[in-house]
This record gives sequence, C-alpha cells and structure tokens, in this order.
Amino acid sequence: MHYHIPVTSTPKHAPILLVHGGAWAIPADAAAAHLAGVRNALETGHTILARGGSALDAVEAAVTVLEDDPIFDAGRGSFLTSDGRVQLDALLMDGGRMKAGGVACVERLRNPIQAARLVLEKSPHVYFVGSGAEQFAHSHGMALIDNAELVLDRERERLTHAQAREAAGLADLTFSGHILHDDKSPETAFLHDPARFASHDTVGAVALDAHGNLAAATSTGGTLNKPPGRVGDSSLIGCGCYADNLSAAVSLTGWGEPIMKLVLGKWATDRVAGGTAPEIAAREAISYLYSRLGGHGGIILLGPDGRFGLAHNTPAMAWGVATPNGLQTGLTV
Ligand code: ASP
Repeated sequence: MHYHIPVTSTPKHAPILLVHGGAWAIPADAAAAHLAGVRNALETGHTILARGGSALDAVEAAVTVLEDDPIFDAGRGSFLTSDGRVQLDALLMDGGRMKAGGVACVERLRNPIQAARLVLEKSPHVYFVGSGAEQFAHSHGMALIDNAELVLDRERERLTHAQAREAAGLADLTFSGHILHDDKSPETAFLHDPARFASHDTVGAVALDAHGNLAAATSTGGTLNKPPGRVGDSSLIGCGCYADNLSAAVSLTGWGEPIMKLVLGKWATDRVAGGTAPEIAAREAISYLYSRLGGHGGIILLGPDGRFGLAHNTPAMAWGVATPNGLQTGLTV
C-alpha cells in the first residue's frame, strides 16, 4: 500500500495581484514609463505573495512602489491643488478581517498608503484627514516632510497651463461643471477624443493571497487644479476602493465625482457576490458609470476564486496582472 504524506501543505489559492496606474489618454511618449511603473509594482507585490505573504502586505507594497514613481498621480509627482500644493488621499482594505484605513488631504507624508495601513492596524477608527492624519502617522513613526519635496516642476507647469486655460474659458469639460452626458456627440467620438480627458494617473492594487484573503488599495493626488480640501473617490470606502472576502476586491480610477455618487466600487463587488463573473461585472460597472452619469474611468476587480476583470472607457489604462503563470502588463483591455 502507498501512503502519500505531503511535506508541506499546498496553498489553498494561487495568489493573484492586479495593479493599475490610471485610466486616460496616456500619451505615446509616456507609455513606456507607465508600463515600467506597473511592472515594478507587480514584481514587488508578487514577490510578497509568492512567499506566502498576505494580500494586504502585497497591495500596500505595490502601491508604495507606484507612489514613489513620479510618473503617477500619487505620492511625489502628483497633480497640484489650485494653490500649488500636493494633497494626497489613500485607502486600503483587508477583506479577510474587514478592516480599513484611510487618509485624505495629507500634505506631509511621502507614502500615504503606509499611513492608511497604520490607521487600519493601530486605530479603532477608519479615516483620518489633514493634519490629524499626519500627526497620527507621525506618532506611529512616519516622517513628516516638507510639501515642496512632493512637488515637481513638471506639475507646476501643468498647473500654470491648466489655470491659463481656465482663465481663457477653455477648462477641461470634465471638470468645468459641464456634465458630459449633456454633450450630444456620439459616444464613440467621445471615447476616442483625447482632448476630452483630463489625466487620471491614480494608482491601485487588488490581491488574493494563498490563504484566500482579498485586499485592495488606492492612492491619489486627486485631480489637477482641485480646490484645497477636495476629496475624490479614491480613498472613500466603496467608491474607489473596497475589499471583502465574501464578495471581491476592487480599485478604480477616473473622474471621481460620478464614481462617488454611484458608490461604484461596492456596486461592482456586490455584483460579484450576486454571481456575476468579475470580467463581466467590471465591464458593467464602467458602462453604468457612463450611462448613468456620463463618467469615465477604469476598474480592476478580483473575486475570491481568483477570477478577475479589468475595464475602462478611456482611451487607455495602465494595468498589470501577476499570476503563478507570470506577469502581464498593458495599456488597453
Ligand atoms: N479618481 C481620482 C479622483 O477623482 C482621480 C484619478 O483617478 O486620477 O481624485
């Protein structure tokens, strides 16, 4: 008789990590940098998952890499507020423990996603803003930096240009208060006209670890020329980020106000819980965003069984997926 005694227990799940680096008309001369950025993030997060690390550690590490990369609108290199500062929002969520941590309007932290992790682990609360968030992070060991360290000359120029356009009455339609669904042009033209799209370089990650836990993280500098104090969807639970082992993990990017009004992250994960495949639910979420409020953006969505979906209605979305079969990146889905 033959007995097979396993020496190590096999993982319950094949770990999976998805990341995104924004959804918009990514120009050709920025394509390579976006792809390299998402690949670096994937490699870092995937190494953690492959060693048996948690989904939460993987998404935090992946988003930290993306925050540190100045090509993205997160951490250093983010878009500037109308008064020329970087103001950052970030959230992460652990779908196994149903714990979340978020920060918004922080100006003195290099990696807001790490501050969000501290909120998740060290606080009975879920969300801190402004100087209170900075002080909380500092009291748990994070350095407070000068906001100027997060500001790039590239972004000063971009702000000057945006404000000149605004003064000339040429502000981007998406943020000027003209709601896109009032526009009568055909949807196909809308979807392929890059001039319609403000840049959306927010970053995010979702992961499933070998223990079957889901996690999600999203981090952003928000929208260009935003008034100080404006918070978008990215760091709000159920809007730009959500994770629950009983449904799915999600991270979104795009025009924040419509995403918030539809609580779109939760909308998508609820559909997965209801039996819709993530690849379908991702596409449905983006169509709903457009059909209901004329919104635009991109989504990564991962179910507890490892099936996943990606979708966007912008000309491009920087994305990457790591599975045990390897890493894949792209600029369209
Ligand atoms: N959703 C973000 C916000 O509205 C922007 C983005 O995704 O780039 O703050």
